[in-house]
Amino acid sequence: EAGGGDAPSSNVKVVVRIRPPNVKEVEGNFREVVQAVDENVLVFDPKENSCNDYRNGTGRKRPRDISKRANRDLKFAFDRVFAPNATNMDIYNETTNCVLTGILNGYNCSVFAYGATGAGKTHTMLGSKEHPGVMYHTMMDLYARIEQMKDTKTCDVAVSYLEVYNETIRDLLVPGGNLPIREDPGHGVVIHGLSLHKPKSAEDLLSMLQYGNQHRTQHPTDANAESSRSHAVFQVFVRQKDRTANISTEVRVAKLCLVDLAGSERATVTKNMGSRMREGANINRSLLALGNVINALAENKSKGYVPYRDSKLTRLLKDSLGGNCQTVMIAAVSPSAMSFEDTYNTLRYADRAKHI
Ligand code: ADP
Ligand code: MG
Repeated sequence: EAGGGDAPSSNVKVVVRIRPPNVKEVEGNFREVVQAVDENVLVFDPKENSCNDYRNGTGRKRPRDISKRANRDLKFAFDRVFAPNATNMDIYNETTNCVLTGILNGYNCSVFAYGATGAGKTHTMLGSKEHPGVMYHTMMDLYARIEQMKDTKTCDVAVSYLEVYNETIRDLLVPGGNLPIREDPGHGVVIHGLSLHKPKSAEDLLSMLQYGNQHRTQHPTDANAESSRSHAVFQVFVRQKDRTANISTEVRVAKLCLVDLAGSERATVTKNMGSRMREGANINRSLLALGNVINALAENKSKGYVPYRDSKLTRLLKDSLGGNCQTVMIAAVSPSAMSFEDTYNTLRYADRAKHI
């Protein structure tokens, strides 16, 4: 298992990204329910008279909302709050960029995008050709750093891209059957049969990521036609060796896991029966298990029990969470009243995950 007894007290960083309102939200003139106060604080469900920057200058015109619950006006503090104008590069610079040093020092790390469907997880992690995401920026920066140290070290980088769907693991780059997972005393978590790739260029990497993303399992549901029920895991393996005359050269291997989690909306929202219900239950199980693991780690109960075995996702991430592994959670939220409950749930999940 990665990490020794001298791990720093907290290796968990939690940030929130508020995306810009989409066309539907703007046209519907929905109230803004999340506002960044500063770089560390946001307010959820702000008091109506305390906020003067509604979309189009007015709140949604309604009969006086006596029947509505009072505005909660809840303040949340995080390691970082990104307002809607933040770019993917900004997110990268304040999150994954900080764990690359850990990777190059030989420690496994993991970064998650958490949030409801439509909140901006895939935009953040994968992005688009015009706005490449955290996965892309990570690789570019990693190559640049390796280039800088090429006089003293040789580095070998390989990537894999898989999904956890319905408690099974599938390769997204070489689609095939379910892959078994096992723990190897010398090598940590090993996924048998998973393909490894060495992208030759930035272009090559981008098309690889797009290809993989298109092979994620997606099913239209009542709740959202674009709903994504799989967790996509992009893994970067870095193997480095000192370039010295010394024969006893040290080899360091580290792994970075970048995860675009399945939508966190509650399964009960989806009015489906049978297999879809089971999918929902499994997604919740993985997300719940992940939350419990991160929470246990954030509380720094280094001697306490960490429930890795509760789901496939947490088993898979066992050697990348805890110990000296740095963990970043990027919680993505919509700013709009249309997503009131999802946003509130995401903020509470993120709040629970942060260090105390
Ligand atoms: P999720 O993966 O959480 O379901 P997406 O990342 O697919 O959500 O985002 C939903 C939609 O909103 C997409 O069309 C995406 O391009 C857009 N979007 C999300 N975040 C941003 C952002 N920060 N800036 C601009 N568009 C965004
Ligand atoms: Mg997505």
